[in-house]
Amino acid sequence: MTTPQLACPLCRHTEFLQQQGRISSKHNFVQNPVTLMICKQCNYVLPFWEGKSIYLS
Ligand SMILES: [Zn+2]
Repeated sequence: MTTPQLACPLCRHTEFLQQQGRISSKHNFVQNPVTLMICKQCNYVLPFWEGKSIYLS
């Protein structure tokens, strides 16, 4: 798995901690595997679902 180069939208830092996790929805019981990229500088969390980024196009 390759990690795209990304910059924190808040502080423009480019080093992130990567964590795997799941987000569950109370309403429809769907669990989506999610990758969390956590900015090492300000701890801002960028979630990615199944390779799709909501921040990169
Ligand atoms: Zn940051």
